[in-house]
Amino acid sequence: MIITQQKDIDEIYEMVKPYDKILIAGCDGCCQPPRSVEEAKVLGQLLELKARSEGKDLKWRAMTVLRQCDDRIAATTVRPYIKDYDAVLSLACGLGVVMLNKVFPDILTFPAQDSHYGGVQNNGNNFYIEYCESCGDCIIGETGGVCPRAGCAKHLSNGPCGGMVDGMCEVGGYTKPCAWVDIWKRLKEFDRLDLFKKYRPPRDYRTSTSPGYLEIHKEYTNEEEKTEEKA
Ligand code: SF4
Ligand code: SF4
Repeated sequence: MIITQQKDIDEIYEMVKPYDKILIAGCDGCCQPPRSVEEAKVLGQLLELKARSEGKDLKWRAMTVLRQCDDRIAATTVRPYIKDYDAVLSLACGLGVVMLNKVFPDILTFPAQDSHYGGVQNNGNNFYIEYCESCGDCIIGETGGVCPRAGCAKHLSNGPCGGMVDGMCEVGGYTKPCAWVDIWKRLKEFDRLDLFKKYRPPRDYRTSTSPGYLEIHKEYTNEEEKTEEKA
């Protein structure tokens, strides 16, 4: 899931202020916390109040999209409404906002959210945590399933560094665990410290340069062929 945070209402209002009619699009995809039609309605009401305080009459409509980051879904869901509006305000992560700008190039879509990282929901600790930063060269088969790229503040390939104290990381003032200590504990538990001692070359950033392009594999796009193969 993409961990997002709604922008300050004043910042959002400044973006949409020049427009009289805005379409507010939630996203039912993977952005967290959820930003669906209910959140879109609340945002619309807040913006309407702000506009009214400036003597302006803002028209808005709230809707939601199954996944704004899928061009076909975004196009078919939003198209029936978009002609009646001057601008779109998206509650999706940045992927959804970029996609709406591409699918509907004749109208501007603005972001209502800041996108932080791809993360997991750890309900026990009440946190959304970044466990993977999509580096394109997964090495956690050697690190007990703990990611040193997302988990280590210095992205070290062979840790821990000298900044670790009592299992905690110096970056951030010893408030977060050192990923390399967690890796050591995991590998020790499974009697696989041979993996811990193994030298890993520095990360090759060529596997994660932007923009990423990966061809969509046929098996995910051609349902007919998939069925034939099974038969
Ligand atoms: S090594 Fe870490 S950042 Fe890279 S793919 Fe694996 S879990 Fe993700
Ligand atoms: S203390 Fe651990 S997590 Fe922090 S930078 Fe050093 S190796 Fe990485």
